[in-house]
Amino acid sequence: MKILVLNCGSSSVKYQVLNMEKENVLAKGLAERIGLKGSRVVHQFNDSKKIIDVDLPNHKKAIEVILNLLVDKEDGVLKSLKEIDAVGHRVVHGGETFFESTLVNDDTYRKLKECENLAPLHNPYNIQGIDACLSLLPGTPQVMVFDTSFHQTMPKEAYLYALPYEWYEKFKIRRYGFHGTSHFYVSRRVAELIGKPVEDLKLITCHLGNGASITAIKGGKSVDTSMGYTPLEGLVMGTRCGDIDPAIPLIIMEKENISPKEMDNILNKKSGILGISGISNDFRDVEESAERGDPKAQLALKIFAYRVRKYIGAYYAILGGLDVLVFTAGVGERSPIIRRMVCENMEHLGIKIDLEKNEVKGEERKISAEDSKVQVWIIPTNEELMIARETIRLISKLGIQRR
Ligand code: ADP
Repeated sequence: MKILVLNCGSSSVKYQVLNMEKENVLAKGLAERIGLKGSRVVHQFNDSKKIIDVDLPNHKKAIEVILNLLVDKEDGVLKSLKEIDAVGHRVVHGGETFFESTLVNDDTYRKLKECENLAPLHNPYNIQGIDACLSLLPGTPQVMVFDTSFHQTMPKEAYLYALPYEWYEKFKIRRYGFHGTSHFYVSRRVAELIGKPVEDLKLITCHLGNGASITAIKGGKSVDTSMGYTPLEGLVMGTRCGDIDPAIPLIIMEKENISPKEMDNILNKKSGILGISGISNDFRDVEESAERGDPKAQLALKIFAYRVRKYIGAYYAILGGLDVLVFTAGVGERSPIIRRMVCENMEHLGIKIDLEKNEVKGEERKISAEDSKVQVWIIPTNEELMIARETIRLISKLGIQRR
């Protein structure tokens, strides 16, 4: 079976075609600067790379170009688009409507449209991707895999805020959590590597990328996660502030005469590691400056690691112990410095890493010391594979085939 996985952002489409017999990637790429000048598609297949400069006024055109590349006479990886058995779409927000991956049909599509406003920066583009595929690949099953659905198992005390209750009823204000596909994937993968059922483990998974979140997993289910109503809450991130006193934006808005939109932009795009260091949102740049002795870069990394540690402590408490700590995503997979800063002086919680084993980038590996009570692992995330697996699982369960 061959599955096309699509991840549509505001100005980009990331894609992969996977052959699910061996779960190998046949082609992958990125259409970028959609709707802007200088749009292009970077297409990778069989160890080759093609860059196509092409006008991409909208997502539909981008997906059309991608599909044409996949069936290109000379170096296409498919003979015909009919070889695509199903499409798996990453959808950021499924609200309280979607507890699991869902097939697109008239009813679920209508319900998805009702969730559009929950993630105005993401869901409209995910929907545009679905619209494009419905028209360009008619008869091919489309599956939506949500970032939020893994967290739908959180108990009410974890997902409700101490705000007027009618805000929840009227506006659905609550914690949803994100990166669910990644937390789900690494929790299953690490259980497989350890050789224990995930249901028997207490896990904390740290997805540390430009966006970062941390999840407590018990019995295979998400019981709490750091991102909230939006992906702004929780850990310090590349450009996002994470947890702050909610009074601060109100005070600054009044003092500086700033609109809600401007404040939103500052909290999302000018804060975090970039805001503190004044250097960059890229951890590589900040780590380099910190090594050269820049005090603000050093401080930014300290604050980042401190916040992760604080969450580990909190989740340890609510899980009632811990078996496995997992690091994933860009920083979690590739930054030995951050992993070391997070794990140091945690022996009292049974967490001890082996500093030599920790000196790797992007490898699947156990990095805890032999005498560490808690196992610590690096598990490179693979959201595309997870989406493709979910897509197959669902269409097989429903007995659906392309028409
Ligand atoms: P997102 O999907 O949220 O954009 P990623 O998971 O791709 O994020 O992670 C991107 C982040 O990973 C960037 O901030 C980058 O600085 C960081 N990163 C990538 N490689 C390294 C590295 N070798 N050392 C430290 N940080 C790294």
